[in-house]
Amino acid sequence: MRIAVCIKQVPDTTEVAIDEEKGILKREGVDSRMNPYDLYGLETALRLKEKFGGEVIVISMGPPQAAAVIKEAYAMGADTGFLLSDRKFAGADTLATAYTLAKGIKKLGTLDLIITGMQTTDGDTAQVGPGIAEYLGWPHISYVTKIVDSSDSSLTVTTDMLDTIETQKIELPALITVAKDINRPRLLSYKLKCATQNKEVKILNYKDLAGEEEVFFGLDGSPTQVERIFPPQRNCQQELWQGEPQELANRLVAKLKELRFI
Ligand SMILES: Cc1cc2nc3c(=O)[nH]c(=O)nc-3n(C[C@H](O)[C@H](O)[C@H](O)COP(=O)(O)OP(=O)(O)OC[C@H]3O[C@@H](n4cnc5c(N)ncnc54)[C@H](O)[C@@H]3O)c2cc1C
Repeated sequence: MRIAVCIKQVPDTTEVAIDEEKGILKREGVDSRMNPYDLYGLETALRLKEKFGGEVIVISMGPPQAAAVIKEAYAMGADTGFLLSDRKFAGADTLATAYTLAKGIKKLGTLDLIITGMQTTDGDTAQVGPGIAEYLGWPHISYVTKIVDSSDSSLTVTTDMLDTIETQKIELPALITVAKDINRPRLLSYKLKCATQNKEVKILNYKDLAGEEEVFFGLDGSPTQVERIFPPQRNCQQELWQGEPQELANRLVAKLKELRFI
């Protein structure tokens, strides 16, 4: 089975400064790590490779320093790694990110499965996985919490949709996004880390991905623009109500509606 896993480098902190003019996070000079959900995606791919054989390819879009997460993936057992890196890819919203990753994935040859994390710990939108599948025209299932059964032509998976647990079968090739309950990612192997420290991270840039047709990379290819980005203000305002249970419940519902929580 040839499996591509999308991995993103995210800040290893919640204290990231904001570029208020451009409406983006200032990622330079901040410690980074692999998005935690992507560890579960990589573990899922490695287990499928152990069962069926094949190849696990990791792919990331980001600045040159994002090669570090590909090296990390090598130390867990990934076979090949690609970094999509070019100034023209910068400032991408989720649509342009999914588009760029889909373009990169098309360069990887025939694949059986693409795995992404459910979401990231910085952007947090959970849109990129399904976006890649839509660009490729592939079937996809999000929020996979368990692989119930697998063959080299299909997967049967459980997904947690919060109010329902669903079991679905999907024919390959397909894309799944995985949640953290799916497995327990292995630790980095020191032996593999030493063995792969000089292993190549293949870089694909604008020229490699742009064809003849119109392209939608980076800020220019992003239909959404951030108007303002700011940390939410903490609000410790409290109200104490007393009364009969029914009266209090009605009042609570009215308040939640007023605040647009329901
Ligand atoms: C409206 C809007 C505007 C934005 N504008 C900008 C901007 O101007 N500049 C800017 O820098 N950022 C911008 N961002 C943030 C940027 O869109 C996200 O960093 C990026 O698209 C990934 O989205 P996410 O982190 O929400 O991923 P999610 O959809 O939460 O991630 C799901 C999974 O997709 C995969 N994935 C996601 N991103 C990558 C990646 N880069 N490489 C490999 N795999 C990946 C991973 O497997 C991940 O687990 C914007 C976001 C939004 C919502």
